[in-house]
Amino acid sequence: MKNRETVHVAFVGNPNCGKTTLFNAITGAKLKVANWPGVTVEKMEGEAEYEDVRMTLVDTPGIYSLTSYSIEEKVTRNCVMDDDIEVIVNVVDASSLERNLYLTLQLLELGKPVVLALNMMDVVEERGMEIDLHRLPELLGDIPVVPVSAAKRKGLDILLHAVIHHYEEDSKDEVLHYGQEIEEKIGKLSERLKTFYPTHSSIRWHAIKLLEFDEDVKSEHPIETADVFTRSYEKEIIQIKYAFIESIIKEVLFYRKKKTDRTDRTDKLLTHPVWGVPVFLCIMAFVFFLTFAIGDWLKGYFETFLEIFSGKVSDVLIHINTADWLVSLIVDGIIAGVGGILTFIPNIAILFLALAILEDSGYMSRVAYVMDGIMGKAGLSGKAFLPMILGFGCTVPAIMASRALETEKDRRRTMIITPFMSCSARLPVYVLFSGMFFGKYAHVAAFSMYAIGMVCAILVARVLHVCEKEKSGDSLLIELPEYKRPNGRTIRIYVWNKLKDYLSKAGTTIFIASILIWIVLNLGFNGMVTDPSESFGAAIGRGLEPVMRPAGLGMWQIVVSLIAGISAKEVVVSSFSVLFGVGNAQTTAGLNTVAENLKNIDPSFGPLNAYCMMLFVLLYVPCAAAMATIRKESGSTSFTVKLAIFQILFAWLMATIVFQVGSLL
Ligand code: GDP
Ligand code: MG
Repeated sequence: MKNRETVHVAFVGNPNCGKTTLFNAITGAKLKVANWPGVTVEKMEGEAEYEDVRMTLVDTPGIYSLTSYSIEEKVTRNCVMDDDIEVIVNVVDASSLERNLYLTLQLLELGKPVVLALNMMDVVEERGMEIDLHRLPELLGDIPVVPVSAAKRKGLDILLHAVIHHYEEDSKDEVLHYGQEIEEKIGKLSERLKTFYPTHSSIRWHAIKLLEFDEDVKSEHPIETADVFTRSYEKEIIQIKYAFIESIIKEVLFYRKKKTDRTDRTDKLLTHPVWGVPVFLCIMAFVFFLTFAIGDWLKGYFETFLEIFSGKVSDVLIHINTADWLVSLIVDGIIAGVGGILTFIPNIAILFLALAILEDSGYMSRVAYVMDGIMGKAGLSGKAFLPMILGFGCTVPAIMASRALETEKDRRRTMIITPFMSCSARLPVYVLFSGMFFGKYAHVAAFSMYAIGMVCAILVARVLHVCEKEKSGDSLLIELPEYKRPNGRTIRIYVWNKLKDYLSKAGTTIFIASILIWIVLNLGFNGMVTDPSESFGAAIGRGLEPVMRPAGLGMWQIVVSLIAGISAKEVVVSSFSVLFGVGNAQTTAGLNTVAENLKNIDPSFGPLNAYCMMLFVLLYVPCAAAMATIRKESGSTSFTVKLAIFQILFAWLMATIVFQVGSLL
């Protein structure tokens, strides 16, 4: 097995210790770095080369121990146990050495080659801590210990050097002695395992896991154990490990200062039992204010550019005698649809920049903590809030992050409520409609959508919780990382990844949807039509008008754009642009004209209708990609279909209530 050309390396460590950052720094990949569990739930592979040795590297989900309770733990455990993996790089947050070493001890017990990457050395220095780099490896059975800083890209070469020169040396699996009683049992079990499974590579680890009553281990390699032990030794084993870690820390760590005062003081306010939630809402309100105030200002330039561009294209096309329908398809269909979406780049970029800064500074983890109380009342763990926050970006990864939850029921419930979180694709809809109808209160109207979405999510969860009559879940145990200055590179990667997703969507889904919408709106029963109200789209829309009328949305144009929006929510806006012509929907003056026109249509479409429109877009089915993800993650088509029906009914009901009550006032 050894001596092959490629060395297989797995990066393993606690959540947030910097595995992904290190992985990106070494492989040049641009994986998402995030501050909460559930982000890396799948292992990611990359390649690197050092001194002519090729390596494949695997980035694994963060874990605290090698048990197999959560999905992260299962994925990572299977990965490190895999015979293909020749070296384990145990990434350790050196600034919280004590907590990280628990996993380290378990990895050592596997007996595979382990290289310890002491990450975050910059933080260690900044805090005036010192780690004895000679004594630490001695205590850990002489494995290579390499101080690095993934964020500052320091020590990477030495780390790779250690990997390729030590991958043939197994670690000593007997670094830690558990005392006579337990060691005797480990000895007996090991003998037996060796006889039955001579090729097994992690005998000692296996024996220890048996003593901990680990079900998976027992069923994978069954042996007779009843004569050796009859009760679980898990508690003792954990205690002895912690005692050992304490003794290591005493020897190698100097000037140990707990959290810096600044973090403590900041947390007094930000995680305050009463003020925590309002402070969070204020911060989010500020973020949305920036998104709109600065975003709209920049958006103006994009719009002007688009207008000029579309005019030029149209001139050129007419000049070379292009058929009228083709000019219309290109200018009113594609440029209006795709271009309209592109003008929202500033808003999206600012939103993500702000979220990235909040996340990387360490604040987002506090949000989960702060929200744990409210979430608990709804029968959800604070952990479910993390997918919900991700949902502000995009529902697809948010649904995937629900894997971090422990039970199937929690996961499904999170999938039900996550789509209520207002994803970035809905932002253009709010910008358009609130800009048209709410003038200087535009950002208040838009912000209210985010708030309503969260309230609906929590209420629905609460109703489900009460219906299922169960007791509240355990409270959240979540690591609160130290506040730190956000890392420029991490933020750049984060924002760029989001923008790239957005752009590629504009280039694919929205491109195709724009063409389809143009066709539906320009073809009728008698072929090409000049007036969209005679088109197929209008016919479909009119058919549904009566249903949507109570919700204030009984206009065929609105119905058409809502249906189109199922392909992607931005398409609501692009179909709107197509319906009302490009020059119109893109400039402020144009917006006002569109708004005027809408008011004059019968039945007239005013601010209340616009608000119901935004509400409906917020609550009705998420986009096709998100539904596909729900289907995949839940593994159930009937669940997905029921959920979609529920969402449409719920959206209709809410919009109807708001419209009917609003009309009375
Ligand atoms: P993972 O959960 O182990 O994959 O950790 P990430 O790679 O997502 O990193 C978590 C956070 O720690 C990110 O905000 C990184 O920017 C930050 N980080 C990673 N390595 C370092 C480091 O060496 N020094 C500092 N100061 N921050 C780091
Ligand atoms: Mg990661």
